This record gives sequence, structure tokens and C-alpha cells, in this order.
Amino acid sequence: MNLSSKLSDPRLFRQHAYVDGKWTHGEGGREEAVFDPATGDALGYIPWLEPHQIRAAVDAAEAAFVHWRALRADERCERLLAWYDLLQANREDLAILMTLEQGKPLPDARGEVEYGASFVRWFAEEGKRTFGETIPSHIPNAALGTLKEPVGIAALITPWNFPLAMITRKAAAAMAAGCPVIVKPAGETPFSALALAELAERAGIPPGVFNVVLGEPAEVSQLLCAEPRVKALSFTGSTRVGRLLLEQCANTVKRVSLELGGDAPFIVGPDMDPREAAFAAVSAKFQTSGQDCLAADRILVHESIHDEFVEHFAERMSALTVGNGMESEVDMGPLIHAQAVGKAAGIVDDAISKGATLVAGDQSQAPGENFFMPVLLTGLTRDMRLWQEESFAPIAGVMAYADDDEAIALANDTEYGLAAYVYTHDIRRIWKLLRALEFGMVSVNSVKMTGPPVPFGGVKQSGLGREGGITGIDEFLETKYYCLGALGSVSGS
Ligand code: NAD
Repeated sequence: MNLSSKLSDPRLFRQHAYVDGKWTHGEGGREEAVFDPATGDALGYIPWLEPHQIRAAVDAAEAAFVHWRALRADERCERLLAWYDLLQANREDLAILMTLEQGKPLPDARGEVEYGASFVRWFAEEGKRTFGETIPSHIPNAALGTLKEPVGIAALITPWNFPLAMITRKAAAAMAAGCPVIVKPAGETPFSALALAELAERAGIPPGVFNVVLGEPAEVSQLLCAEPRVKALSFTGSTRVGRLLLEQCANTVKRVSLELGGDAPFIVGPDMDPREAAFAAVSAKFQTSGQDCLAADRILVHESIHDEFVEHFAERMSALTVGNGMESEVDMGPLIHAQAVGKAAGIVDDAISKGATLVAGDQSQAPGENFFMPVLLTGLTRDMRLWQEESFAPIAGVMAYADDDEAIALANDTEYGLAAYVYTHDIRRIWKLLRALEFGMVSVNSVKMTGPPVPFGGVKQSGLGREGGITGIDEFLETKYYCLGALGSVSGS
């Protein structure tokens, strides 16, 4: 396939790594194909860099740090806003690239570009507000306070389900704080990352400040984690890999932020209109074909409205159109690859073998090899893989519960703690659930919960730290305390 012919600006399609402001070939001859998950066609090839080339990216970032941190915050803000403007101006091309490599429907990809760009604008401004503090002194004739300083080079390792926004949510925060970044995108979706690099260059972001390295995932990550000059790791991906990287960062005692798996519960109270709740649950479950850390994975419905809820859910789910995300009127694209389809089929088989009922979801209707039709299962139980694992697939499992205490116990019965949904209009129930749910984010009567102003992140094994909001930039800042002594008589000391 000739991908560049699909773009109004073909230079946004790059098949090289981007290091120190230069498009870089691999020196060992290793390269990987990138496929369109909807058609199986090869979209292009990316080089796998050699270890010394990854170290060269660290050298470049180290050199760039000196100048980038020395810029005034408003100067960094201007560069980031120029990047934001270019993301907006090239929104359609970025969305096309994303749909081709990731599979999500084009309107969803446009939404992600918008969402991803919004973090650049947010952090461009937040960089101007990295205030220190003045501390009332307990030491005679001294002035005490804190300064906020950039932590240093940040390695950013990101997943394929949100190929653009998961980069900007980290990179914009780090760069606004004064840190250069080395991005290692998922091998399945490198082209969005490389287009971001092309636009960063056009925006006047200096060489070495935004680098994109490509390579064998475990090898590149290990190098970055072991490298003492890299001071921070920000990772979004599975809990399995997150644990591994946390361990690998121990020797160099890095600042680590982790945005990991979800397995969100979706609790529907007895007072809810079952149709309204079912429609919301469909929307919370099937976005990005269920490959979403916020996907409603365990749907808990009060027994008094369970059957009606299931009927409405099935009706709404059956109306979803599954197909190639480049075609109009498609609600759900393919899964990322055949392996994901195999995993999804295994999870459904396991649930049925343990007593679940398949209400809807006929895989013979799938329009291609990497597609998985949405599935609704009732009779979900805790011994099923669907309960125990993050399915990362369009499989909805529903379980009935008897009272709020049972709903809370079930919802919290997971190693994950990213997000939970609650649907009820009973204010006492809302408050009780809000306080009792062990999740970093609880959304009441709303599917949409994310965006630049909010602190995104999980508790338990869903991660460490928060992205976005007024605290997201702190992940890339050190607090330096100062004591200015022997000042003579200082007012207030
Ligand atoms: P993944 O953990 O397999 O991969 C994430 C990144 O790590 C990729 O860049 C990949 O190349 C790299 N990687 C893979 N194996 C590695 C290894 N052995 N050593 C070092 N690096 C390795 O995750 P994924 O499949 O790309 O993404 C899906 C996961 O991401 C889900 O668990 C999802 O919940 C999570 N996620 C979380 C958030 C959040 O904000 N909490 C957002 C999106 C996705």
C-alpha cells in the first residue's frame, strides 16, 4: 500500500527513527513491517536501532537539556503552542495515519488527535506555573523556600491503543517542565509518533529535545531503564510490562510513573432506568473495540433490573457496525492483530465452559481475520478469565448483585484500580460507592471522564503517579529546597 498517497502532506509519513533532529536509519539492518490491522497490508517498515544508537539518543538529549532547561518558561510555552497549532492544522492526516496503523474508526482517530493536542496546549501553559514556595523560616536570619527544577532526561514508553495521545500526555508535560524526552512507541503504531516528531521539528523544538527511538521492545526499554543519565521513566502499557520496567529502574533509582491496566467495573443501581444505563455501558465497553484501559470490563447490575438491562444492552450492541475504520458509518474497527483475536476467543470459550450464557456475538459475521464481533455474556462469575484478566477485547460480561455492599466487594475484587463507573441517581448510594471503591478515578453517570484538567491514573496495580491536571507536570519536576542563611535581620524570621 502507498500510504503517503493517502495524506495531503506525505512528509508526515516517516519510516526512520528521529534522533537529535535527524531521521535515522538502523545500522544493523534490522527492520520491522507495520501492518494495517483491518486489511493485513504492510503499511511500511521501521528500523530497529542498535544499542549504540539508543545511547546516541541519550547523548543528544543530554546535550539538548542544557539549552532547553535554560529557556524561560514562556519561551518553551511558545514552542509547544506552535506544536499544538501544527497538530490541529494536520489533524486529518494524523487521523488517517492513526486509523491505518491502529484500526480505530476515523472519527475516533480525529477525536484522539484533538484529545492528544489538548494536552500540548494544557502543559504549554502549565509550564509557566511551576511555582516554588516561600517557607516561614524557623532559622534566625534565614530565608527558606523551594524551587522547581526539571528532573532531566525522560524516557517515555507508550502503547498502541492510543498511539498519539499517550505520547503527548507525557511529552508535553516533560517538555514544559524543561526535560528532553526519548519516546519509544509501540512497534504496532510507530507512524503517529514519527509524525509528531516531524511536526515538533517544524514547530522549532530544538534537536535532541523530542527523540523517537525504535527497536526490539525489551532491548530498548532495558537500555533506557539501565541508563543512569535517564532520570525519569513514564510508561503506559500492561501491568505485566510495567512491573518489569519498575524493577529495571531500581538500580538507577529513577523517577517512575506508570499508567497500567484497567479492568473497570460498571455498577448499575436499582433506581436506574435500565435502558439509559445499558446504552451508557455499551459506549463505555466498545470504544476502541474494547482495547481501552477505561473499558467497562465487569458490568455489575442490580438483580431487580438485570434482565431488562441485558435486553437493552443486546439491542444497542447489535446495532454497532463493525468494519474497516477508513469506511464511513463504522463504529468498531478490528483488533490490533490476530493474537488479540485468539485471546478474545479463548476468554469467551472459557466463560461459556464455566457456565456463562452467550446472549449475542456471532463470530461468523466478522468482516476479516483481525475482527472480533462484540459479545455479550451473562452469568459472569469470579472464576472466569473474563473476570480475572483485562480482556482488552469487545467482550461484555454481566453479573447480577443483590445490594450495595456486594457490588462494592465485587468491584474491588481485582488487582487493578484504574477507573470505575457508577450509574445511580441516589445521592447516598453515590457517596457510599465513591468512598468505598478502590480506584483512582470514579465516574458517576458519565462515560466521558478524561481530559487535560483532570488527574488521570490508578491505584493498586494500575500504576503510580498521575498524568494531566495540575499535578501531571510534577512527575517531571524536582523540588529543590533552599536555605539562605546569615542574611542579617530578615523581616518575619
Ligand atoms: P504492553 O505493555 O504490551 O506494551 C506497552 C509498551 O511497552 C510498548 O511500547 C511495547 O513495545 C513495550 N513493551 C512490550 N513488551 C515489553 C517488554 N518485555 N519489555 C519492555 N517493553 C516492552 O501494552 P500494550 O499491549 O501496548 O497496551 C495495552 C495495555 O496498556 C493495557 O493493559 C492497557 O490497559 C494499558 N493502557 C493503560 C493506559 C492508562 O492510562 N492507564 C492507557 C492505555 C493503555
